[in-house]
Amino acid sequence: MASAKYVFVTGGVTSSLGKGIISASLATLLQSRGFRVTIQKFDPYLNVDPGTLNPYEHGECFVTDDGAETDLDLGHYERFLNHPTSQANNVTTGLVYQSVIEKERRGDFLGKTVQVIPHITNEIKERMQILGKSGDYDVVITELGGTVGDIESLPYVESVRQLCWERPDDCAVVHLTLIPYLSAAGELKTKPTQHSVKSLQESGVFPDVLVCRTEYELTESIRRKLALFCNVQTDSVIQSIDAATIYDVPKLMKEEQLDKVVLKKLGLSQIGEADITNWEEFVYHLNNPKHTVDIALVGKYVELKDSYKSISESFIHASSFLRCKVNLHWICSENLDATSAIESLKNMDGVLVAPGFGPRGIDGKLYAVQYARENKIPFFGICLGMQASVIEYARNVLHYVSAHSTEMNPETSYPVIDIMKAQKKVINMGGTMRLGSCACELKKGSIAHAVYGVDKIDERHRHRYEFNNLYLNDFEKLGMKATGINPESGLVEIVEIPNHPWFVGVQFHPEYKSTVANPHPLFVSFVKAALKNKS
Ligand code: GLN
Repeated sequence: MASAKYVFVTGGVTSSLGKGIISASLATLLQSRGFRVTIQKFDPYLNVDPGTLNPYEHGECFVTDDGAETDLDLGHYERFLNHPTSQANNVTTGLVYQSVIEKERRGDFLGKTVQVIPHITNEIKERMQILGKSGDYDVVITELGGTVGDIESLPYVESVRQLCWERPDDCAVVHLTLIPYLSAAGELKTKPTQHSVKSLQESGVFPDVLVCRTEYELTESIRRKLALFCNVQTDSVIQSIDAATIYDVPKLMKEEQLDKVVLKKLGLSQIGEADITNWEEFVYHLNNPKHTVDIALVGKYVELKDSYKSISESFIHASSFLRCKVNLHWICSENLDATSAIESLKNMDGVLVAPGFGPRGIDGKLYAVQYARENKIPFFGICLGMQASVIEYARNVLHYVSAHSTEMNPETSYPVIDIMKAQKKVINMGGTMRLGSCACELKKGSIAHAVYGVDKIDERHRHRYEFNNLYLNDFEKLGMKATGINPESGLVEIVEIPNHPWFVGVQFHPEYKSTVANPHPLFVSFVKAALKNKS
């Protein structure tokens, strides 16, 4: 079997240029040509994984099927490629050091002095090639987090240098950079790019392709200048002009022939064109909706929209599928009380209560659930949002006035949401959460069963607390049904209220599995219900 080819995507000049989207767009074009492609991200921070990072600092934590807590860029990779990622797709400096130190403690290095070069770089190179060696992929795209020139990035840049040296025919380096426009001079400026390329070259890495973020079209003369000073072919200077949405980028990259230039460098067949007809149809439907709905997203991290990235992207997929624009209204649960909940939610066609951790803002979530339930507004609760719907039902319908989750009130006399014994054991053993894909059996006649159209599904989890089955009968008697159950543990995965137009709470995170090619059926059904509620 031919070995995989490697594309490294580095970033220069500033952060936040969108390496993830460029990587995902390139991958989409290569995939549409029939190549088997995956994308991995190497992050230069010392956290072992992003699970412990505050969403305000780093955006959402994305969870894979195998239960890895990863960078949100992996969400983009999955949404673009419609192909799952795994723990191997996200590596941090913390993880690299952890495994090198574990090897050192085991004596694997046979008394040698353990150093950044070669031990850390060997570990990085090995991990850079794991997916390539699996035989599952023709091309592995590796996005390097951070910006070239950062101290933290040095071992990664050195690893890329070594790999390009070891496998000159199998590697290509794409450098994403910024061409700023100086309005006083009325000109696009190439100097910052020249410097960042120089800094890469000083480390022995010679980019093959420049992808230039710009607000204005690059002229031929700028392209030639960049090519000459940065030592790349003129056709390898790729313009990445500001786009209305991230979903426009694959088409823009196709027009600039990014895929062809990369394939040429890798020595792979570049005959014909990438076929992204389905993708373009998706974008056309997204931009030409026939209907509109207003949906409230009630959560506590609403200031940083990246905290709920997968949820907002899932709405975009559903929007295009239904040709129904979703106006998302971000509502901070901390500011909601009985009165303001009415004010904020009265014009909404649907209410989604978001996932979350800790007690802050929980009361506002309960008011939001109550408003949606009592006023028969389509309601979608995800993870903590589902738990909030259970607590609210217990308090206001079952009249367990002090009902709560033991996460919020460990002393509650009605722990309707609680840590299960089995989970306590996992916590004692150092694990913390139910993470990754779990099975769920759906009850016939439920919304979930109708929506998924199958008896058994798999969805991803990231939580510690569960519906407390001691109370299940009480809930079912008074109208809240468990319609999805985990077959091994009997844990409740989905709750519904049949005598409501659309009330669904899910313990799992459906948003992690929605993609451009496969919008998630629960989001599609929820938006449909919101549209029906509007008319
Ligand atoms: N805090 C809740 C739990 O740990 C819900 C987690 C979530 O919403 N992801 O069970």
